Amino acid sequence: MSVAWDDDPAVAAWPGLPPLAGDVRADACVVGLGASGLAAVRELSGRGLEVVGVDAGRVGAGAAGRNGGFLLGGPAPFLHDAIGRWGEAAAVGLYRATLAELEEIAARLGPGVVRRAGSIRLAGLPGEPDEGELADCRRHEAALRAHGIAVEEYDGTLGRGLFLPGDAAVNPARRVIETARELGARAVLHEHTRVLRVADGRVDTEHGSVAAAVVVVAVDGGLEVLLPRLQGRVRTARLQMLATGPVADRLPCPVYCRSGYDYAQQLPGGALAVGGGRDRFADAEWTHERDPSPAVQRWIEGVAQRMAAGPVDVTHRWAASVGFTADGRPLCAQVGDGVVAAGGYSGTGNLVGPVVARAAVALALDGTPPPPYCAP
Ligand SMILES: Cc1cc2nc3c(=O)[nH]c(=O)nc-3n(C[C@H](O)[C@H](O)[C@H](O)COP(=O)(O)OP(=O)(O)OC[C@H]3O[C@@H](n4cnc5c(N)ncnc54)[C@H](O)[C@@H]3O)c2cc1C
Repeated sequence: MSVAWDDDPAVAAWPGLPPLAGDVRADACVVGLGASGLAAVRELSGRGLEVVGVDAGRVGAGAAGRNGGFLLGGPAPFLHDAIGRWGEAAAVGLYRATLAELEEIAARLGPGVVRRAGSIRLAGLPGEPDEGELADCRRHEAALRAHGIAVEEYDGTLGRGLFLPGDAAVNPARRVIETARELGARAVLHEHTRVLRVADGRVDTEHGSVAAAVVVVAVDGGLEVLLPRLQGRVRTARLQMLATGPVADRLPCPVYCRSGYDYAQQLPGGALAVGGGRDRFADAEWTHERDPSPAVQRWIEGVAQRMAAGPVDVTHRWAASVGFTADGRPLCAQVGDGVVAAGGYSGTGNLVGPVVARAAVALALDGTPPPPYCAP
C-alpha cells in the first residue's frame, strides 16, 4: 500500500515528532492527531492550556491524511436529506459551520495548499447518466438556493449535475502536516505513541502516560475500539482509493458521482486520485482492515477509466478507516469525567471533523451542550 499524497515534497520532508517518553502531566491531552485532533489542540492551546497530543502513527496517519481531499460544504447527507432527517436548524447549522471552517483553512494554509476550484456533483458516472440522481440533484439545488448557498447547474463533458463554486480541494496529508508544523510551537505533540487506555484524568500509552484533567479523543474510524462504551453508536468502515499516472485534462475540480459513493480529483500534474465503491461491497467494507482489497480496487479502476475517458496506469493504492453513525450526525460525547470524544463523520470529515472537535472542547471545558447537528 502506498499513498499518493505522501509523494508531495512537503509531506516527504516531514521530519517527524518524537514518541512520548515516560509519564508527563498537562492541562489537556488530545488523542489522535488528524485534522480533527489538531483542531482540538489549536482550540485548547488558544485558551492558554498546556496540551500534549499523541498519535499512534505519523500525524495524519489515519483517514485525515489519506482521504479524497474534497473540502465540501455540508454534512455527509446532501442538504435536503439532512434537513429531512435532522431538521432545518441542525442541517443548515452544520452546513454553515463547514463553510466557515473552509474559509479558515483556506486563509491559514493559502492557495498553494487549498485549491478553491469548486466541486461537481454528477448524476451518475461519466458516460452513464442517471435520471433519478439528476432529479435528486434538483432537490439538492433547491435546498441550497433556499438557504442562500451558491450552486449552479452543471451540463458539460462529464455529464449533468450541480456545480458548487464554494468548495475546494486539498492534499489532505499536506494539510495535516502543515497544521502540525504550526501547532508544534504551541503544544507538545508525539507521533508513534499508541494509546492503550483512556481513563478519567489519565491516558496510558505504549511509552508512558499523560495525566490531564481534560482528554479529547479525536479518532474517526476505530473510535469504538479505543472507547468500547461507544460500541453501537459508531461503526467502522474501510474506504479505498487509488492514484493514476497523468491523463489528459478532464476534471476541472473535484467530482463526485453516484450520490457521492465514487469520487475523483485531478491533481496539478494530471494524475487522478480516485475513490469509491464502498456501497458495492458494503458487507466486506464494514471492517477494521486498512489494506486495499482487489474487488473494490477493480471497481475504482473502472471509475478512474470513466473519469479519464480511457485507460489508466495505477500508481498507488490505499485505504483507511472512518466511523459512521446511524443517522449521519457526527458524534460529540462526554464519555467520562473530563473525557470527551469526537468522531463518526460518516465519510465526510475534512471540514465536519474540526467543527465537531471544537464542540467537544467546549463540552469539556465549558459544559456547552453539543450543537443539534451532533448525535445525542
Ligand atoms: C479513502 C477516504 C476518502 C475520504 N474522502 C473524504 C473527502 O474527500 N472529504 C471529506 O470530507 N472526508 C473524506 N473522508 C473522511 C475523512 O477522511 C475523515 O472523516 C476525517 O479525515 C477524519 O479525521 P479525524 O482527524 O477525525 O480522524 P482520523 O483521521 O481517524 O485520525 C485519528 C488519528 O488517531 C490516531 N489513532 C487511532 N487510534 C489511536 C490510538 N489507540 N492511539 C493513538 N492514536 C490513535 C490515528 O493514527 C489517526 O492519525 C475520506 C476517508 C477515506 C478513508
